[in-house]
Amino acid sequence: MATVRELLLAGVNRLRASGSESPRLDAELLLGHALGADRTVVIGHPEAPVGSSAADRFETDLRRREIGEPVAYIRGFKEFYGLAFATDRRALIPRPETERLVELAEDEVLRRLADGRPPGSPALRVLDVGTGAGTIAVALAVALRRRRVADQVALFATDESPEALELARENAVGHSVGDRVLFLEADLLPPVVTTPWDVVVANLPYVRSGAVDGLPIAASFEPRAALDGGPGGLEVIGRLLERLPHAVAPGGVALLEIGSDQGDAIGALAAARLPGWRCEVVPDLAGHPRVARLRPGRAGPGAFGAPGAPS
Ligand code: GLN
Repeated sequence: MATVRELLLAGVNRLRASGSESPRLDAELLLGHALGADRTVVIGHPEAPVGSSAADRFETDLRRREIGEPVAYIRGFKEFYGLAFATDRRALIPRPETERLVELAEDEVLRRLADGRPPGSPALRVLDVGTGAGTIAVALAVALRRRRVADQVALFATDESPEALELARENAVGHSVGDRVLFLEADLLPPVVTTPWDVVVANLPYVRSGAVDGLPIAASFEPRAALDGGPGGLEVIGRLLERLPHAVAPGGVALLEIGSDQGDAIGALAAARLPGWRCEVVPDLAGHPRVARLRPGRAGPGAFGAPGAPS
């Protein structure tokens, strides 16, 4: 019977040869998955013998990873914001950089609630545009429940893909917030917005079309529409910007994830499409541009010459 160490070593070598950028981590995660154990168990018990059914399972999963399938699709879940999200080909895999966006959205919500709203105020309205696997909406719903303010917030999430919405609902139900998020099938926003949102948050596709094929091979297993932001990268975000004056309530905010090289471009786009709005670029933990924070000028949506020119 092969030991954990032997299987791991063979797995690491095969994944390295297949071009994986993280062969050791991948092999540890996959062997843990085959054993029904955490990766730390694999690392901590190199001498343990591995039974044949776990070894077979590891072999099957290694083959999937060797042809480039992401570990998150093989395992069927990915950790994000301290939660396990179900992942499969219906939607983009949650990325660590998006945790920054959730953090900022949580802060915006909590600040508005702490600002002392008159008793009987309607719930604060929060929208996740292009929710994919439900990542942002569900992470926010769980965070707000932990802070015991869930009743003061109405969460909405859109996606144009019915398949992604199915997965998003599964994730919401899996985290017991199925009744806390209203999922809507829509191209960015519902065709007619009757009531705007206080906080709009979105991780839309922003990779330049020409750069999508250059992403790690794992990305080719994900829905292209979730990554491809058009020839310049900001086409989809640009379409959302045009609709923000109707979608963001006075005093509200939009938080949009961007690529680390798009800080200047988003400022220019906001200046062109959202006159009078303020645009700040917030860095991620590595110090790279990651989130655009957009706020309507005080004089009202789209007002000419409103204070705070976009930067
Ligand atoms: N950060 C992602 C990547 O580079 C892109 C996510 C997106 O387009 N929203 O893989």
